[in-house]
Amino acid sequence: MNNCLFCRIIRGEIPSTKVYENDLVYAFRDINPQTPFHVLVVPKKHVASVSEIDQLGNDEIAACLLAVKQIAADASLDGGFRMISNCGPDACQSVPHLHFHILGGRQMSDQMA
Ligand code: AMP
Repeated sequence: MNNCLFCRIIRGEIPSTKVYENDLVYAFRDINPQTPFHVLVVPKKHVASVSEIDQLGNDEIAACLLAVKQIAADASLDGGFRMISNCGPDACQSVPHLHFHILGGRQMSDQMA
């Protein structure tokens, strides 16, 4: 996906603040953080959203979730954190490359939407 924003970030064509990387996953700080800690975890293989997650291998899906766990642990988010993946227009997904937001660093609302 030549013009996908997150594919371009993964390739290093657009700068980002990397917090984690392995063969399957890249994670970086959100440019517009909504909580004190706000990181995006993306699979390196392009799929649009959770609606296409069956186009990833089980190893790639697991790598995303294991990255979330590791990043939260490394950030000492001992009070907890929220993982969100917006999917499609009703959820206001703005970048059509699957990503998991990790939000933390403060008490959040009990309302999710
Ligand atoms: P979503 O609305 O769920 O698709 O989330 C997309 C996220 O990407 C938003 O939270 C944006 O702030 C974030 N974002 C957009 N462009 C960049 C960028 N160049 N670097 C880091 N985060 C970005």
